[in-house]
Amino acid sequence: MLIRTSRCLFAALFLTSLASSARADFVVYDLGALGKGMTKAAGTMFDSSDLGRDTKILLPGKTQVQPGGKLSYTHPNGATVHFKLEDVRVIKVPSNRDEFTKKLTMAGKDPEALMKAGIWGLKKGLLAELYKSVDKVLEIDPKHEAALKVRELKKTMREPLPENPETEKKFRSLVKRPDMRFEKSNHFILMTDTPTKPPKGDKKSRALQRLDLLEKVYESFLLLFHAQDVQLDIPKERMMVVLFDKYDDFHEFANAIGPGLGSAAGFWEHIRNVSYFYDWGTSPTFKVLEEVMKDLREQMKDAKKARNPEIINYVKVLDLLMDVQQENSDITVVSHECTHQMAGNTGLFPRHVDTPRWIHEGLACYFENPSDGTWAGIGAVSGRRLESYRTLSSRDRVHSNLNFIIRDEIFDLAASNAGTDFAYGQAWALTHFMIETHLKEFVGYYRVLGDLPPDVSLNPELLQALFARVCGSDIVSLDGEWRQYMNKLKTETEKIEESDEGSGATRSSGRGKSSDY
Ligand SMILES: [Zn+2]
Repeated sequence: MLIRTSRCLFAALFLTSLASSARADFVVYDLGALGKGMTKAAGTMFDSSDLGRDTKILLPGKTQVQPGGKLSYTHPNGATVHFKLEDVRVIKVPSNRDEFTKKLTMAGKDPEALMKAGIWGLKKGLLAELYKSVDKVLEIDPKHEAALKVRELKKTMREPLPENPETEKKFRSLVKRPDMRFEKSNHFILMTDTPTKPPKGDKKSRALQRLDLLEKVYESFLLLFHAQDVQLDIPKERMMVVLFDKYDDFHEFANAIGPGLGSAAGFWEHIRNVSYFYDWGTSPTFKVLEEVMKDLREQMKDAKKARNPEIINYVKVLDLLMDVQQENSDITVVSHECTHQMAGNTGLFPRHVDTPRWIHEGLACYFENPSDGTWAGIGAVSGRRLESYRTLSSRDRVHSNLNFIIRDEIFDLAASNAGTDFAYGQAWALTHFMIETHLKEFVGYYRVLGDLPPDVSLNPELLQALFARVCGSDIVSLDGEWRQYMNKLKTETEKIEESDEGSGATRSSGRGKSSDY
């Protein structure tokens, strides 16, 4: 297919390449070998975003086979495109909601199993299902501590924090942008100059959309810990977030705070305790993407004249991916940065003393959402992070081992070797393992770090000793356990594809194979 394209376009495509959703149909569309080199280039462009490096796109939605060897596919946002049957595979898997119901039924009257089912639901973004499990637990055991914590939290979260004019005053004095207005949600105050009118086709303004997303991270973050009986402090003041309308303003402002910050997609600055973002739609990358799409649309006009359905369809698919791309990048960046802010404001991490970098980044990456444009939940396995972990661990055991990470030397090494992505991958992998399998000890370690006197300067020996004290002195065994865990960990794409191969149920045609429809 002769189509002029650009590597930036592929950056956008691969932001959508991983999906985890409650919907049962997935379409696998392979962009072909051309994408491989492109993704590699694209992966270096967004430091904190999730970019799967596969050329396959996994699209959640509804599918229907049409006469003439076509498959119509409808994305959750309502857009429909058509694929040639031989170009795609359709995978049907049970929806997350169905899986949850099965787990809940199997749990019977066992409070712990019911809680587990609820937490599983929470991790898939099914918050209502967690509340449902908690109700069931409390019917059986009205004194169940974790369930009570969740119920209490639910009550307080529904109440907006009281109005506090002092917060606005403080915010204005910290961030001197008199041209910006305030918008508020229950737990956040947003300073912004984005338009008050909703973008075309949307019901809410960009500021309100951003606040919704922040609230979702807030709720999920607190629930994950409280549901596992870890009590966090509930912030008493609205957390401060700035949303710039224009990337250039963000860039200028960020660079004035710290060199290099301007190249981030967003950041939380712990001293002022403010998060900063810009509206993705105005970034240079997005502008380039729009230019490329304009160009492609021109080609589509010619293709229409020439009746070249292949190009017409290809452009339609790209158009659809462009539409969800903006939301994807918002979700990834906001879930990452808001996690930093939440950890610093709920007493999980100390805010006024140093926190090892692997601890902060590992947690932010754990909550980071590699999403298809819908909320995929917590701890979803990121293709980018997993690949980064696998690459380093398979070829460099010296820098991919538990001891090296807990001494917090990996980010220093990475900074001097341009291997930051590897540092994030390792920090993510160890955090994933600790949260999923040793949560209590790991939170204990967070607490110990928080209890250090402010004048203690962290060094590798101290960090190693503290970790061993709380999480176990047999670091070699724990390292082995971690590797085993990581060997089994799979991305949503891998899981979905595996279940497809395993069941042999719905199939589709793969390239070169005959269709079973
Ligand atoms: Zn971060």
